[in-house]
Amino acid sequence: MNIKNYINGSFQNPIDNQWLDNFNPSNGEVYGQIPNSSKLDVESAYQAAASAFPSWSKTTLEERSRILIKISEALEANLQRFAEAESKDNGKPVSLAKTVDIPRAASNFRFFGNAITQFSSESHDSVGQDAINYTLRQPIGVVGCISPWNLPLYLFTWKIAPALAAGNCVVAKPSEITPMTAYLLGEICNDAGLPKGVLNIVHGLGTSTGQAIIEHPSIKAISFTGGTSTGAHIARVAAPMFKKLSLELGGKNPNIIFADCDYDDMLDTTVRSSFANQGQICLCGSRIFVENSIYERFKTDFVHKVKALKVGHPSHQSTNIGALVSKPHLKKVKKYIEIAKEEGGSILCGGHQVQLKGYENGYYLEPTVIEVKSDECRVNQEEIFGPVVTLMPFQTEDQVLDMANKVKYGLSATLWTNDLKRTMRMSNQLQAGIVWVNTWMMRDLRTPFGGVKASGVGREGGFEALRFFTEAKNVCIKY
Ligand code: NDP
Repeated sequence: MNIKNYINGSFQNPIDNQWLDNFNPSNGEVYGQIPNSSKLDVESAYQAAASAFPSWSKTTLEERSRILIKISEALEANLQRFAEAESKDNGKPVSLAKTVDIPRAASNFRFFGNAITQFSSESHDSVGQDAINYTLRQPIGVVGCISPWNLPLYLFTWKIAPALAAGNCVVAKPSEITPMTAYLLGEICNDAGLPKGVLNIVHGLGTSTGQAIIEHPSIKAISFTGGTSTGAHIARVAAPMFKKLSLELGGKNPNIIFADCDYDDMLDTTVRSSFANQGQICLCGSRIFVENSIYERFKTDFVHKVKALKVGHPSHQSTNIGALVSKPHLKKVKKYIEIAKEEGGSILCGGHQVQLKGYENGYYLEPTVIEVKSDECRVNQEEIFGPVVTLMPFQTEDQVLDMANKVKYGLSATLWTNDLKRTMRMSNQLQAGIVWVNTWMMRDLRTPFGGVKASGVGREGGFEALRFFTEAKNVCIKY
């Protein structure tokens, strides 16, 4: 099946007629082609967006809200079709796409469709100066949204929905590795009555199509989710043009387990926070630190549960771990398992590629638990982004806090304890944009989302996203 660009409300071939293969990770086969779009396609998308902007930015909030909620409803009505498409493109279990990815994409549109009707600005009476100040929150214009392959439609819509709600027009690019659901979204937007040119989706490589978006002089803001080195590159390109930037980047998140936690809940959640989506979630707790007194018990129970996870074809109901997203990514993750061995880590379980009968060329890997000797080893410091976690004991709160913070990243942290004072002390000091206590990946879309240090700059989520996608203008009137 050939995917096309969605520009000005219609589906178009790339102008240069260049195409890329699209792979199915579950069997390693090419199952379609996607546009290898050039600067010309991005320019065409930009022109469509710029033409649509004057009208869209003046569309009433009720009307924008109505259209976004209609898109949300259409995604819900097409849940099965979208979940199957996401699974085929990404390798994740259909069951996961059906319960997490697609429902969340629908929630993104519904949430921001509602949020925009509640988003208001301030006014300030300048007492004693006979003046009043008020703030306008104006849409930026044409904005760029670039998203990664791990949660394809989920993260794509996390950017697009607030951008559109705030009155911007969008040029967006999904990862070239997982373009399918972004392509299908175009159809739904037309059916929901989104005016032509308001959203434009251009497919292709990051280094050419993505690059054309970030260096386009009239695309005034970039919302990007992806790797830290790509984020640094985007910052370098965009800074001299003074673009507004929101960068959601990599993570190497600590999962800190104290002996006083609710053990069973912690154990089940830790299996999920380690291996959900094949460990390919920026929020996964990939470094597990366990208090000494329960370390051996945890190690035995955790490894027992991880061994019971079923690696299987993404379409099978019983599958817990599907395929990794691509051959190069599988190779990268396997390399880290070798590095762990060279560094003296012990592989407690997993560590091998899996050849599924009938799908021998699929990109499957056993969920892997590595006991490491030092928190400073490479597998404990570098983002692996696969079904691999490290395990280490700790003695004191100060020691674990130091180890948790001693990485370049700072996206999220998970803490398991029933001690309120410790919870407060640790949450204050953990260097992370999000701290989960006795839970993981519980998301309320009103909350700010983002990381510190090499995990990014800026916040999305709730009104933070609407603030990002608008310019604040002060008007001062003397009377
Ligand atoms: P990449 O940085 O490789 O790619 C992300 C997106 O950027 C893709 O669409 C990619 O296109 C595009 N891109 C690549 N180069 C450029 C460029 N020069 N200019 C513009 N766009 C470009 O990340 P991955 O797709 O490999 O995603 C995994 C990473 O994303 C991990 O580091 C993970 O931690 C991070 N992530 C962060 C999250 C967060 O919220 N903080 C959430 C989810 C993931 P293409 O794929 O076509 O090359």
